[in-house]
Amino acid sequence: MLDATRLEKLHETLTGAARATVFAHTHPDGDAIGCTVALALWMKEHGVDARVVLPDKVTDNLAFMTRTLRPADFSTDPDAGEWIAGSDLLVCMDCNAFDRTSPEMETALRANTSARKVLIDHHLDPDISSFDLVFSTPDISSASELTFWILMEMPEIQGDATKLSAPVREALLTGMTTDTNNFANSVFPSTLEMASKLLAAGTDRDKILCFLYNQYRENRLRLMGTMLKDQMVITPEGVAYMLLPSELIGEYDIRPGETEGFVNIPLAMAKVRMSLLLKEEGGLWRVSIRSKRGTSANKLAARYFHGGGHELASGGKLRWPEDIPSRGDAGRYIERATRELLAEEDES
Ligand code: 5GP
Ligand code: MN
Repeated sequence: MLDATRLEKLHETLTGAARATVFAHTHPDGDAIGCTVALALWMKEHGVDARVVLPDKVTDNLAFMTRTLRPADFSTDPDAGEWIAGSDLLVCMDCNAFDRTSPEMETALRANTSARKVLIDHHLDPDISSFDLVFSTPDISSASELTFWILMEMPEIQGDATKLSAPVREALLTGMTTDTNNFANSVFPSTLEMASKLLAAGTDRDKILCFLYNQYRENRLRLMGTMLKDQMVITPEGVAYMLLPSELIGEYDIRPGETEGFVNIPLAMAKVRMSLLLKEEGGLWRVSIRSKRGTSANKLAARYFHGGGHELASGGKLRWPEDIPSRGDAGRYIERATRELLAEEDES
C-alpha cells in the first residue's frame, strides 16, 4: 500500500527538519487534531522542533486531545504566522489543499516557498502539485489511520506499536474513532488491525470513549430534542434536513462542537438516504452532509454548496444573497438541489 522509496524520503524529511509546522483543515475535527498532534509529538520525540498550527480553535469537546501538545490557533495566536514563516517543513494533514485552512493561513503557508511540503491525507481531489511528497489514500478510515500505518513503517518502529509513546497512540486511536463515528462507517480490515495493535499496546479506549461521548452539557441533548421535533424536514425523495439558525444557537447557548453528530441521526430511518444539517455561522449557512451508500454526499457538496469531502460525508456552505435570496430560502434550495441530484443518480 505504501511505497518504500517515498517512505524512506518521508523518514528523512520528518526526522531531518529543524522546525516543522504540522497543520490541518478549518474547523478541525477529531481526526484533524489526532493525526497532527500524533505526528508532531513523534517528531518532537525525534528531536525536531515541531508545532501543530490549526486555522482556528479546538472545540471544548475535543480539548482533551491537546493535553500533551497544545496547538497554536492561527486566528488568534500572534506567533503562529512567524512559526510558519520560520519552518523548513510544512506537513498538511487531513486536509487536501492549502485553501482548506483559512484565507489568511493559506497566504502564510504559500509565502514560505523554501520549506519542504508534505501531504498526508485521505480526502478526494488532493492538490498534489503544491507538495513535494504526497501520501494520499482515500480508501482508508481516517488520516489518523494513514498516519499510524506510515509510522509503523518507520525504521524506529518496525511494525511494533508498543514503540509508539502513549500520547501518540491515544491521539491516533481517537482520530480514527471520531472519523469512523466509533466504528460505524469507513471501517476497513486495516482499521480493525490498527485498533487491535493499539489496544494490545495498552491504549486506554474506555477513557477515550468517555472523553468523546459522555462529557457533553445538558444543552446539547435539549437542543437535539428540539431539532428532531421541530426542525427536521423529510422530503418525499428521502432527504432529511435540519436548520439550526442563530436564534436557536443563542436560546440553547450552544458552543462550537456541541452539535457534533446531529447530522447522522436522521440516517437511522429506513426511508432516509441523505441527511443535511445547516448551521448559521458568521453570516452564512455551514452545511454538513451525510449519505448512505449509493448516494453521493460529495457530489451534492461540490455542486451546490462550494464544498467537498468524502463520498458519504461532506460539507460546504450556502450564502445569501449570493446563492439564495435570503436566509429563509435555504429549505427550498436544498429540496431543489437534492431532487436534481437524486434524479440523476437514480437514472445512472
Ligand atoms: P463535517 O460535516 O463534519 O463538517 O465535514 C464532513 C467532511 O466534509 C469532512 O471530511 C470535511 O473535511 C469535509 N468538508 C466540510 N466542509 C467542507 C468545505 O467547505 N469544503 C470542502 N472541500 N470539504 C468540506
Ligand atoms: Mn478525516
